[in-house]
Amino acid sequence: MKLTVLGCLGAYPYGGQGTTSYLLQSGDFNLLLDAGSSTLVELEKELDPLDLDAVILTHYHHDHIADLGVLQYYWQLYPTQTPKPILPIYGHMEDDFHFNDLTMEGVTEGRAYFEAEALKIGPFTVTFMKTIHPVPCFAMRFVEDATGKVFVFTGDSGYLESFNEFAKDADLFLADTYLFNGNERHKAHFTAQESGTFAKNADVKKLVLTHLPQQGDLEELRQQAQAASGEIPVELAAPHKQFII
Ligand SMILES: [Zn+2]
Ligand SMILES: [Zn+2]
Repeated sequence: MKLTVLGCLGAYPYGGQGTTSYLLQSGDFNLLLDAGSSTLVELEKELDPLDLDAVILTHYHHDHIADLGVLQYYWQLYPTQTPKPILPIYGHMEDDFHFNDLTMEGVTEGRAYFEAEALKIGPFTVTFMKTIHPVPCFAMRFVEDATGKVFVFTGDSGYLESFNEFAKDADLFLADTYLFNGNERHKAHFTAQESGTFAKNADVKKLVLTHLPQQGDLEELRQQAQAASGEIPVELAAPHKQFII
């Protein structure tokens, strides 16, 4: 599978870069993972947005869904010769207001995922874990059925011991690292040291830092995570960077 960064800042866009959004591909299946600000303009550089097969959302904070409404308008209004299929958008049901917004009649359809149930989406089997965050948010573990390769995304989360198990042996671990060291046990996000420690404990193959802060030296953030992860390589996400998993 292939993971392409569309946006990787936390909270708000800055300096020409958008917030959390990733394109996860396997074979000809195209899955959009979160839809933060700038998603559509960045996605258009990778593929025709109408070639998306599904969307999945970790939670409904604005920095993860800012472009969802305009994606629905695109799907509704962009002229095509043949009728467009209805786009499935997967989200949790712990917030009726936002879950109901996933459905736009004849255009997109909200579909629920649940923490206790594995979900099959195209070539992936996805399992979920509720995170530490001010609103309900779910980390996701994607297994590519054809290869058994594993990609784990934390969503947004403060320190949560069970990531040691949830991320176990992942080929790529994409971790919310909004905070520099010194802010440990925050209520909403990991510090660099926490991301690196989870990567080490879970024995992942690679750690990628996302939900990056607008201020501060990102190379320092990376080095703080690297100091905690030991041998496990740590990279910073950046727009249009691609990872083959
Ligand atoms: Zn966020
Ligand atoms: Zn959030």
